[in-house]
Amino acid sequence: MSEGAAKKEDKPRKFQAIRGTRDLLPPETALWNRVEQTAHEVFATFGFGEIRLPIVEEVELFARAVGQETDIVNKEMCTFPNPMRFSEFYRRLRESVSKGTNEMGTLTDLLPESEMISLRPEATAGVCRAYVEHNMQQLPQPVKLYTMGPMFRWERPQKGRYRQFYQIDAEVLGGTDAPAIDAEVIEMVMTLFERLGLEGVQLHINSIGDRNCRPKYVELLRAELQKVKDKLGADSQRRIETNPLRVLDSKLESEQKIIENLPRIGDHLCQDCATHYAAVKHELGLRGVKYQENWRLVRGLDYYMRTTFEITAKGLGSQNAVCGGGRYDGLVELLGGPPTKGIGFAIGEDRLILSLLETAHSPLATRHSPLLYIAWMGEKAYTTAIRAAKNLRNAGFRVELPPVEQKFGKALGQADKLGARFALILGDNEVSSGEWTLKTLADGKQEKLGESDLVEHLKKQL
Ligand code: AMP
Repeated sequence: MSEGAAKKEDKPRKFQAIRGTRDLLPPETALWNRVEQTAHEVFATFGFGEIRLPIVEEVELFARAVGQETDIVNKEMCTFPNPMRFSEFYRRLRESVSKGTNEMGTLTDLLPESEMISLRPEATAGVCRAYVEHNMQQLPQPVKLYTMGPMFRWERPQKGRYRQFYQIDAEVLGGTDAPAIDAEVIEMVMTLFERLGLEGVQLHINSIGDRNCRPKYVELLRAELQKVKDKLGADSQRRIETNPLRVLDSKLESEQKIIENLPRIGDHLCQDCATHYAAVKHELGLRGVKYQENWRLVRGLDYYMRTTFEITAKGLGSQNAVCGGGRYDGLVELLGGPPTKGIGFAIGEDRLILSLLETAHSPLATRHSPLLYIAWMGEKAYTTAIRAAKNLRNAGFRVELPPVEQKFGKALGQADKLGARFALILGDNEVSSGEWTLKTLADGKQEKLGESDLVEHLKKQL
């Protein structure tokens, strides 16, 4: 082997973020912070409190809350044995392999389900778990909670679809199912989007009935789908049996005409559900919230009922849903709690940011640049520069203090490159006279200032 080749092999390999995950970098992170800060502020004005949840929960929680048969639980969840039980898990795995008894999909034969952990694919399950665990039904109802953070779904990555992505999630639990609550939750997310200047926002709403009327509709839909089965694609054919409502989600061009002729749930709601839906629309009207009805907007899970909604925005291509939500009055009970009304939504923060970046005249470019660059030369000047940086930062200014001495010409070049607005020049002369030089980089104007005047002077210029 030549020396060159050996060297190449010795070189440590570079790492990359795992496929479907990504780094969020400055200056874009400033926008993430602004979005999150605005959500904190808007949600607080609607009486919501923040809950911070663990990122890991028992697999069983999601299997029950999201649904064993959903793609999320079936294919996309990151599940692993409790690390404290790894060695036990592998011992049993080896044992069952050597006996030839292990089959795929029987992980829980190797460890009890309570020892299997998943990275959360969504937040509602965790919020409901916490509501029950902390006896929140004893608090004044309803309890209004929101949370934000990373979620994990091992889907095929594409624009607007990641394996680690971020959601801002809000839930109202307990109390009544008054239509005003549905409308207020929707009003809250629309207010946030408006405050952020999100463009092309469209709210789609539907009612999907309840345990009383939906099963009958699903059977009718199944029967109608059977009649046109041959004309449907493979996915939809399968869903006729497993989850006929999901057929309505199909984006397949060849199925669109067929779907348009299927029976619509709106014509099959029971009296209570029809009244509730009409009242939600009325309440939205009272709040000046514009909506479009979309009868194909459904959720396949049993505990979802009545109001469902989705919000789309501009600049996102086919993955244009920035928020999905709905009522889920049966969920808390399904997780071992008392019968509890519930409604909530999840905003896809990655997509929200993408849309803001694609459409808004984002204030990002200037946000991150240092306001003031301190060009210093000499030991005495360095001590003064440290003091100046501390005072300016305490007053809230962004300050860049170079860690090593630079000639003034180089320092000013660097300040320019960083997009600084001002350079504070501190050399022997400035330190001994107490007269500092402030240079405005755009026009080269120089001013002499005393140390005590600097902060006030800068404030006036902003
Ligand atoms: P869901 O929890 O499936 O109702 O999704 C709520 C919102 O989260 C969607 O409208 C999307 O904006 C966002 N979302 C869901 N899955 C992903 C993903 N894999 N990558 C990025 N955003 C996602």
